[in-house]
Order: sequence, then structure tokens, then C-alpha cells
Amino acid sequence: MAAGCEAKAARPRLETNAKRPHNGTMLTHTYTELPEHFYAPVTPHAAPEPRLLAFNTPLATELGLALPDAPDELAALFSGAQLPAGAKPIALAYAGHQFGQLSPQLGDGRAALLGEAVTAAGHRFDVQLKGSGPTPFSRGGDGKSSLGPVVREYVISEAMHRLGVPTTRALAAVRTGEDVLRDTILPGGVLTRVAASHIRIGTFEYFAIRGDKDAVRQLADYAITRHYPEAGAADKPYRALFAAVANAHAQLVAHWMALGFIHGVMNTDNMSIAGETIDYGPCAFLDEFAFNKVFSSIDRGGRYAYNQQPLIAQWNLARFAECLLGIDDDKAAYESILGTFDDLFEPAYRQKMAAKLGFGPSLGDDDSPLIRDFLTTLNERGDDYTLSFRELAERLVADAEPRLGSVEERWRVAVRAGDRTDNDIRAAMDAVNPIVIPRNHQVERAIQASIGGDDSVMHALIKALASPFELQLGLEEFAIAPKPAERVVRTFCGT
Ligand code: AMP
Ligand code: MG
Repeated sequence: MAAGCEAKAARPRLETNAKRPHNGTMLTHTYTELPEHFYAPVTPHAAPEPRLLAFNTPLATELGLALPDAPDELAALFSGAQLPAGAKPIALAYAGHQFGQLSPQLGDGRAALLGEAVTAAGHRFDVQLKGSGPTPFSRGGDGKSSLGPVVREYVISEAMHRLGVPTTRALAAVRTGEDVLRDTILPGGVLTRVAASHIRIGTFEYFAIRGDKDAVRQLADYAITRHYPEAGAADKPYRALFAAVANAHAQLVAHWMALGFIHGVMNTDNMSIAGETIDYGPCAFLDEFAFNKVFSSIDRGGRYAYNQQPLIAQWNLARFAECLLGIDDDKAAYESILGTFDDLFEPAYRQKMAAKLGFGPSLGDDDSPLIRDFLTTLNERGDDYTLSFRELAERLVADAEPRLGSVEERWRVAVRAGDRTDNDIRAAMDAVNPIVIPRNHQVERAIQASIGGDDSVMHALIKALASPFELQLGLEEFAIAPKPAERVVRTFCGT
């Protein structure tokens, strides 16, 4: 056991808040019904002086948990200082291919799954502390998080949710009152992440590479029950599971591409079986458009560049298929499902891009060159990706001089072919083209302000991103592309 875990065991800790009057429910547990080698019990480190940075009240309400109202009490519950009712913290085992190389032993090195909340609608969600101290999977790391990654994940994951992308959510962000040592000394933080589950492709790999077929089968059965019950009714459930996950990943990456989102670390341990965006490390939204854009400081070869993402999703799915082959040995069947990835991704992507360009529900195959030529023009000009769609609509309504030359002229003719007015077209476009995205320079500004003790920028940014398709009065600054000097060119991992 890591030294840190023993050191923490003696501290006084309230097990539950059950004495507090409440109307909500307690955390429950199904993952712990899986065999013991799927996880390790952990004791979250008790943050000495927890202070609430942000709390997601609507999400808390949705989860129906028994929670107090007072910020200090919430800070204590979501920092490891106390535990919410029914919590039984565990760290999950997983492996993963990182930048193409197998790491047989990863696991939750800085996270503790407190338990599962079941909403009134019957949906089950993991509630996990991230940055709450060492676990048996920490591999020498401190298990902690500095404030920056906490602010980053809270802001970006909630923005993704508002943008309509399947994603893990952020329930709370807390300052621990403790410093962590990175390149410099930084204030520590804990993020509470809410996820459909934390099963990753890497979770399957962990058991498959150890030849533990029983565990792969148990995990597959668990994933089917929890996420894809219809696969359970199929003739070949594991193949059906694979097809469902392949489809979920194709849809997810189509969504990312249409939004100009670069995940940055599409390692197999960061690919959720539930099909949610997970692990907001060096992720970034494009400012100026570039097909081959890379932000992550650790992605030197551009493996996870913007336009690589569909290919990498498919590569990751191949690793998932290899795991399932151990329990359902028909290579040709899995290859054929894997081969459908493009047929799942392409129409999903084309449909989203068609909607962004004011065509709906689909451009039709003949008009795909318009999408390509539009993006090629943005790529050549280095125009802002997000704002280009808004401005296209704006110029259409104003009958202003086309800025993008012949492609814009072609587009105008095509989009006006129906009987909609220019205002109708613009309204349809503005409804799917965000005006506010979590721009890297603004996220960075929020992080620096919070590190300096001022959380107002983070809160303003969260507010602006709560309605990404509309500009709110007084929050206009968040809709502006960075000036060249403000541009963030590198992003860093959330460790
Ligand atoms: P990530 O880059 O967030 O996907 O993390 C990759 C692996 O490194 C996971 O197993 C994490 O739990 C582990 N890890 C990241 N940061 C820390 C840390 N500060 N202490 C211990 N383990 C960590
Ligand atoms: Mg990860």
C-alpha cells in the first residue's frame, strides 16, 4: 500500500452525513459486486481546509443525493474531509494503450469512486473524487491535483454538456487548503466527477492482457447491463456490445469534430465504454482552423491531432475487439463490425456539418464537396472555426460581400435554394453554431485568477458557457477570438 494511504488512516472522519435531515437518497454500489481484483478500497485524503470553488446545484438535484446546502459542508463532502451518505470509496483497476504503447497497470491513481447515484428517472451515475490522494494505483504519484486541472475540467466538461456532447459532468470543485508540488508549488484542488460509469477500453485490457477471461466476461456482462441492455438480448451479446460501443464512439467523435474539439489524449484508458467524453487533460477547442492542429505538449508526433481523431477512435476500438475475442472467438465478425466505423462516423459528421452550414437534415452526398471546400478555405486562411459559421450567416442576412470567395458564393446559392428566408436560415444556423466555447485563453485566464484567489473569472465563464448559442449581456468578452498575442498554443495534462 502507498505510504500516503497509511498516513491517512488515523485521521478522524465522519463516515456519513446521515444525522443531517435530508430528503435525498444515499450512494449505492454495484461495481463492488464485481470480483475484488476489479478495484481496491481506498480512504480519500482529508483536505485540511476545504473551500468550495464551484458547485453544480442543478446536477446535484438531478442526482437526488442527500446533501446539505451550506457551502462549507459541501466543500467538506467533496474533498475527502467527510464522505457523503453511503460512500464506500474505491479505486478502479485499468490498463491502457498510451500513445500506442501498452501500459499494463494504470488504474485510478488519483481518484476515488465514492459510489453510484440513481436518478429519479432510474439512471445510474458514478460519483468520483479526483485529486483526493494516493491509491494502490498511484505508481509513485501523489494522487493529488492542482487547482488548474480542476478549474479546467469543471469549466470544459460542463460546457461540453451544454453543447450537447455526451460527457462526464462536474458536480463540485473544491480548494483543499493544501499545496501540491508540480513545476512550482500550486494550490491543491479536488474535482467531483459524475459519469455514466468509469469503465474504459483500458478496463477490459487490464483483464484481457492477464488472460483473465472470466473477468473480461464479467466486465462485459456488467457493461451490457449498465449501458447497453439491448445487446444482452442479442444472439451474440458481446458482438452486440462491441457494435454499440463502436457506434457510440463514432457519434461522439463526429460531435467533437463538428465542434472543433480536440481531446488530446485518446489513449484507450481515456475512452469510455458508455461513449462519454472523459478525461479533460490537454484538450482544447480550435481557435483558428487547422486540419492537423495539436495543442497537447506531450503529443509530439501529432498522434491525437484534430483530423486524426476518427482514425484513432477506430484504432482504439480494435484494441477493445481484441479483448472481446477472448470470450467470443470470431475474428471475422469483429473485423466486419470494425469495418463499419466509417459508415457510422461519416454520415454523423456530415449531418452535423450540414446543419452548421444551414442545410438540414442532410446536405446529400453531392454537396459534401462544399463542406470540404469550406474547411479547406478556413484552413488556408486560418480563420476562427467557431465564429466563421456565425459570420457566414450574418453576412448572408446582410447581403454583405462574401469574405471566403467562391466557396461562400456557392454556399449562398445552395443554401438559398429552398423557400426559407435568409433570416430563417440564420436562425437555424445560430441554433447549432455556438457563439461561446471554452476558449483556451479564457480557460487559462480563469485558472490563473483562481490560483491567485479570484474565482470571479471562472464563474463568469461558467455563466457564459451555460447558454453557448446565445450571447449574454455583459459576457461578450467570452465570445471573442483571441488576439494573436493571447493565443494559447500548448496545453498540458491534468496531473
Ligand atoms: P491521465 O493522463 O489523466 O489519463 O492519467 C493516466 C494515469 O496516470 C492514470 O492511471 C492516473 O490515475 C495516473 N495519474 C495521473 N496523475 C496522477 C497523480 N498526480 N498521482 C497518481 N497517479 C496519477
Ligand atoms: Mg485518464
